[in-house]
Amino acid sequence: MAKSSILGFPRIGAQRELKKATEGYWSGKVTAESLLETAKTIRAENWKTQKDAGVDIIPSNDFSFYDQVLDHSIMFNVIPARYTKFDLNDLDLLFAMGRGLQREGVDVTALEMVKWFDSNYHYVRPTFGKNVEFKLNSTKPVDEYLEAKAQGVETRPVIIGPVTYLYLGKADKDNLGTEPISYLPKLLPVYAELLKKLLEAGVTDIQMDEPCLVLDLPENVQAAFKDAYSALAQSGLNLHLTTYFGDIRPNLKAVTDLPIAGIHIDCVRVPEQIDEVAKALTDSQTLSVGVVDGRNIWKTDFSKAIKTLKTAEAIVGDRLVVATSSSLLHTPVTLESEKNLKEEIRDWFSFAVEKATEIVVIAKAFSGDSSSEIADALAANAKSIEARSTSSITKNPAVRERLAKVTDADKSRKSPFPERLVAQKKNLNLPLFPTTTIGSFPQTKEIRVQRNKFTKGQITAEEYEKFIEKEIDEVVKFQEEVGLDVLVHGEPERNDMVQYFGERLDGFVFTTNGWVQSYGSRYVRPPIIVGDVSRPAPMTVKESKYAQSITKKAMKGMLTGPITCLRWSFPRDDIPLKDQSYQLGAALRDEVNDLEAAGIYVIQVDEPAIREGLPLRAGAEREDYVKYAVESFRLATSGVQDSTQIHSHFCYSDLDPNHIKALDADVVSIEFSKKDDPKYIQEFAEYPNHIGLGLFDIHSPRVPPQSEFEARIAEILKVYPAEKFWVNPDCGLKTRQWEEVRQQLTNMVNAAKVFREKY
Ligand code: GLN
Ligand code: ZN
Repeated sequence: MAKSSILGFPRIGAQRELKKATEGYWSGKVTAESLLETAKTIRAENWKTQKDAGVDIIPSNDFSFYDQVLDHSIMFNVIPARYTKFDLNDLDLLFAMGRGLQREGVDVTALEMVKWFDSNYHYVRPTFGKNVEFKLNSTKPVDEYLEAKAQGVETRPVIIGPVTYLYLGKADKDNLGTEPISYLPKLLPVYAELLKKLLEAGVTDIQMDEPCLVLDLPENVQAAFKDAYSALAQSGLNLHLTTYFGDIRPNLKAVTDLPIAGIHIDCVRVPEQIDEVAKALTDSQTLSVGVVDGRNIWKTDFSKAIKTLKTAEAIVGDRLVVATSSSLLHTPVTLESEKNLKEEIRDWFSFAVEKATEIVVIAKAFSGDSSSEIADALAANAKSIEARSTSSITKNPAVRERLAKVTDADKSRKSPFPERLVAQKKNLNLPLFPTTTIGSFPQTKEIRVQRNKFTKGQITAEEYEKFIEKEIDEVVKFQEEVGLDVLVHGEPERNDMVQYFGERLDGFVFTTNGWVQSYGSRYVRPPIIVGDVSRPAPMTVKESKYAQSITKKAMKGMLTGPITCLRWSFPRDDIPLKDQSYQLGAALRDEVNDLEAAGIYVIQVDEPAIREGLPLRAGAEREDYVKYAVESFRLATSGVQDSTQIHSHFCYSDLDPNHIKALDADVVSIEFSKKDDPKYIQEFAEYPNHIGLGLFDIHSPRVPPQSEFEARIAEILKVYPAEKFWVNPDCGLKTRQWEEVRQQLTNMVNAAKVFREKY
């Protein structure tokens, strides 16, 4: 019998219990004990679900209060000195590093947070200060293993492998120039100590996540695998080297003949790697084949999965494990809570709990189980796969016809940037160092209450509209008071920057409880693209037009770009991503043009997800992505006059200025406040159009003093021409409190004024 294996389970709880408890703890309403108890209950529930489903290999240490990478940093004592001087308790230290902390006597910023590979999950970047001293600080993996065991569940702890852990990190400000991988010899003894403790606790097997193996790795990092795993193998534990989200083949040499028990590969993404990887194994190593998608919500096509497994079996025989492609962290918890989906469509989906059953059925069917239970499951699966592929919900001939007619001219602005700039200067009349925000303002409880009432039909559309107008009035007044130059309407009507558009576009469906962790206590509920996308009616014009009508300052229209809509949704897997992206671009083009026609002459099309969509490796796939990402954006934004200013915005990632350049937006704003490396500023110095480098971290309640803004602006101005310089925060302010925002923006605007006088 082939074993079934899950690489990680969502940890937010079926009803978002972890969010409620964590945020309650932050606001002082929930005690630490109660938060710990909630976590324990979630873990217990997860293990039980997987055990009851019949999963053979169940993970532990996949739980985290904030982020699993941050847990490792704390466990290895990779804690910059600025966090240790306050004598915080364990939870507060974790949260201070994750989100910053400002309270009496304490003022620390958060560590940098970046996207986890090409997903919408964010990890807290390991940050190695000059005086980093590795030591084993916690025994979390041991504790959680024992916790499961006490519950009667034997688990396989998940640990991030040393090479990936170091490679994903960066040197702290005081330590620039140090390559984290150079810490390997110092870190390995700490891993050894941890493994020893796990062995003593009764652990036999470890899932060692080394997803960096799907990236283009420099020689020295490839070479590190041999050192690392020769050392760790001495623990006597079976180490299962686990990769996901891509292709391990280009780095295969680095892991061939290592003293490990087996390798896991993602065969949803790259089934073609099976042959080469299988052949590279020794005859005692297992191949774990990921066939159930950890990144999407579609029902697995059982017959296709079994075919994939057979390819592997032909080479490795019974040394085969049937697995999820990655951790299920990236999928919602359970379809059970979805009561509002059309039955026909609901039948196409599978969330984490359902995937647990899928993996068991696939493993059994593959191993020749001929019970009627399995036969029925196979038949039902085949029926539902067939129903989706022939459903008319998925196709819209008018959309396909329109896209077939798109020309190159549709994808480029009328004139080059310098000419547009002249027209825009005349049209907008902005000062030097123009100040603006990225779009959203605090989404208060009142907003959520009213939105809820509206959704439930407790207030009329008119009443809701009045409420939104009142919110816009306040946001506009606030911005005028603070002295911002280009205003926004504040996005009070938006539940989420993608969901809001999805709800107004044809081709999308929504869950009521399909939450997925994005970072910390922030969860998102990605829309699901089920069919061809089109825009039946304007989506944002009413609010933007209203906002413009109550101010003389320029009002910035606010849209979410095609790639971000695509990436932050669960995309279709029955047509290429590229086609879905162009469909979104065309739909947004109609909206951009309508905004302009309504008198909105600054339009921002956010593409925060553009970087995470970049295929993980250089090569043809990446080039293709860049082309369609850029073209979709340009398709959306090129229908306007020269005098209309197109903005775009990006966050969370190290961006390639060349990709941004290709979008040809007039102004871009990028998250920047946590970028310490002067090289990064330098890279953007050559950016030809205008740019706002984010000046404060919006994930943190911290208020930087005006002097800090001034110092930062001065630093950037050393390499950056003043006439291109916009002044703005890192990102939208929706998760902040009003009081924080007032102080943050006031200090920011005052700093801009100081420079306006100097230049
Ligand atoms: N306009 C959006 C906002 O301000 C942008 C959010 C984002 O980039 N993540 O919230
Ligand atoms: Zn952003």
